[in-house]
Amino acid sequence: MFDKGVLKLGRVFGIEIRLHWLFLLFFAILTGSAAISGGLLGGVWTGGFLTAVFVCVGLHELGHSLAAKAYGVPVRDITLLPFGGAARMDLRGVAPSREIVIALAGPAVNFLIVALLAPIAVVAYQAGITFPLWLLGANLVLGALNLLPAFPLDGGRVFRGILTIIHRDPIRATDQAAIVGKVIAVGLGIAGVLFDPWLLVLAFVVWFLGDRERLAARAQAGHAPWSHGDARPWGDVGGGGPGGVRIVVPRGVSGWGPRGPVESPPRDQRDLVDWLNARRRADEIERARRDGI
Ligand SMILES: [Zn+2]
Repeated sequence: MFDKGVLKLGRVFGIEIRLHWLFLLFFAILTGSAAISGGLLGGVWTGGFLTAVFVCVGLHELGHSLAAKAYGVPVRDITLLPFGGAARMDLRGVAPSREIVIALAGPAVNFLIVALLAPIAVVAYQAGITFPLWLLGANLVLGALNLLPAFPLDGGRVFRGILTIIHRDPIRATDQAAIVGKVIAVGLGIAGVLFDPWLLVLAFVVWFLGDRERLAARAQAGHAPWSHGDARPWGDVGGGGPGGVRIVVPRGVSGWGPRGPVESPPRDQRDLVDWLNARRRADEIERARRDGI
């Protein structure tokens, strides 16, 4: 049932939905402690509420995934973790305007849920039932927090996309978005200490994943040595030169690709990205041929 620490729930629109074991642990601890302090009813309420919230998290990821699929971007799977969800998709070579739409599609789902829940929540509240109101609040928080311009949150991706359109330089855009993300991460960390420990978790996620994505963007555009296949969850970087490290270097200098020295990349930054995409595609085809796929 478990495969590499994840529980596969099934497929929606051809996308595999998976639960990480940490999520199950988190679910068990919160529901268990609610049952101990609040009795059976408390446990059932908490378990039901967590389930409903994470269905909404899954729908948020599905929003990203369906927008991506509409643009022909392959989506591998959606994994639910204690601090949220992650949709794995291959965003290499996707235009920044499309990446912006894909990023906005997630929070849009949460705001759509808020709009649909609002009348139900009002009626239920008048009848003394607060559950829909809590779920509405959770979706407001999910939508709003994800729209913070803190890369790699959705808002930060939108911000990065806008900067990429302005600078025509994905590396510079990602660097700047990551710096803003770190400033917000520090702010979230302070707010976490003062108000809610959950914000501390978010601060850590923004800080560390932002760095990882920044390195992935550099590797993708060929500015830094990069070891193979380490750019998850938002995309894999192919390659593998001497010692499994691909070294691609700026114009006028040669480096090493999978089959020895690489040619000098072209002049323009945008051409450079296209050139690297073309090379990567050639590498993939070559690897597939070698592995006999
Ligand atoms: Zn999202």
